[in-house]
Amino acid sequence: MVAIAEILEQPAVAAYLHRLIGDEGLLLIERFPEEGEFSDEELAEVTQINLNSVRHTLYSLYERRLAEYRRIKNNETGWLTYLWRLRLDNIPIALAEEMETILEKLRARERFEDENDFYRCAQCGLLITFNQAMDSDFACSECGSPLSHFDNEILLLALRRRRESIAASLGHG
Ligand SMILES: [Zn+2]
Repeated sequence: MVAIAEILEQPAVAAYLHRLIGDEGLLLIERFPEEGEFSDEELAEVTQINLNSVRHTLYSLYERRLAEYRRIKNNETGWLTYLWRLRLDNIPIALAEEMETILEKLRARERFEDENDFYRCAQCGLLITFNQAMDSDFACSECGSPLSHFDNEILLLALRRRRESIAASLGHG
């Protein structure tokens, strides 16, 4: 088992988990007992975190395979208990999956920027595509000022660099 404190020291991992489960979720991970498996109620008691918040965090983690449960049936009452444990060893996979999603969004944005011509109002900053500008006769729909061509080369370049650096970090070359 890797120590949780050690995992959270990695900035990319800490940022990823924070996006996924927020402050209270991180608190749950930090306070999660190192050994064994626990019901959500036990976890709420041990960690002093609100039960709903505990459940919400566990479910979010479960969706990314960062937590798993074992279901136990009480033979007398028939009630089911879910016993949870963390699977933070799956973080590298979850992180890579998120990066792939980000990469896909960047690709789409880059394509949009690349395939469109943009027009901008110098007065109020409104930025629209060529087609939208055509529809309004190249006048700003907010203030009526004439629109001028907006060069998105720098933005496009920044998007490309970001995409390439993420792709490289994922080993896509
Ligand atoms: Zn305007």
